[in-house]
Amino acid sequence: MTDDAPVLLVTGGSRGIGAAVCLAAAQHGWAVAVNYASNKDAAEAVVGTIVDAGGEAIAIAGDVGKPEDIKAIFAKVDAHFGRIDGLVNNAGIVDSVQRVDEMTSERLDRMFRINVTGSILCAGQAVLRMSTRHGGKGGVIVNVSSMAAILGSAGQYVDYAASKAAIDTFTLGLAREVATEGIRVNAVRPGIIDTDIHASGGLPDRARDMSPLIPMQRPGTADEVADAILYLLSPHASYITGSILNVSGGR
Ligand code: NAP
Repeated sequence: MTDDAPVLLVTGGSRGIGAAVCLAAAQHGWAVAVNYASNKDAAEAVVGTIVDAGGEAIAIAGDVGKPEDIKAIFAKVDAHFGRIDGLVNNAGIVDSVQRVDEMTSERLDRMFRINVTGSILCAGQAVLRMSTRHGGKGGVIVNVSSMAAILGSAGQYVDYAASKAAIDTFTLGLAREVATEGIRVNAVRPGIIDTDIHASGGLPDRARDMSPLIPMQRPGTADEVADAILYLLSPHASYITGSILNVSGGR
């Protein structure tokens, strides 16, 4: 690892897709800031794996549902690395399975605060540092949407699907807003990926149970999503901005 390694912040980097992105990014020469909400051990394990392999990483606690935490996360990246070149807006939640006619405003506030407001505020902090308009050297942002954005998640969590549709639109708008400022902005739409998120929504077997509905007849892995994100982060995607890549086994 050289002192001038590009720096990547991954929100929700402690587990699942985010952890896979952190590990893959380190292998591709990024220094990595591994954000997490509460699972310090998992974040430290990701950092340990990277450091043991000769890479550079730090764990940064912070809830992207809290604006003051977002400012503190970026301040820690500034203090430790002195630069930021990439952001993966990965942190996201589902909630328990409910119909729309059962959902409370408290549930919706939390869903949109973490999945949407958190991603937009993180991107804003990244743009302040990356944009040539603000004296930065450019950078790249990848947002993590979901196939739910276009499928709707009826009978499971329509609020989550709507939050991810907001991420799709945000990706298009921000990409165009900063296209001349050295920043590319893209998103991935994972399909059904085998991570802890399904258990957190009360459906631990969801990935396996939904396999028959997936054209490839299997859930994806976090590593497969990470590979797509690493491509969008890389110079190989230098003319790609405002794109949303489905990573869904054909679903
Ligand atoms: P996961 O296994 O549940 O991991 C979630 C990660 O996000 C953890 O690192 C968690 O930190 C962190 N996190 C949760 N809330 C946070 C908050 N408020 N602030 C900061 N970090 C927070 O989830 P995943 O399946 O990898 O999902 C990652 C992203 O992919 C999400 O945006 C999700 O919507 C999207 N996605 C997933 C699937 C799928 O099938 N798995 C499909 C489509 C899209 P702690 O470890 O500290 O809890």
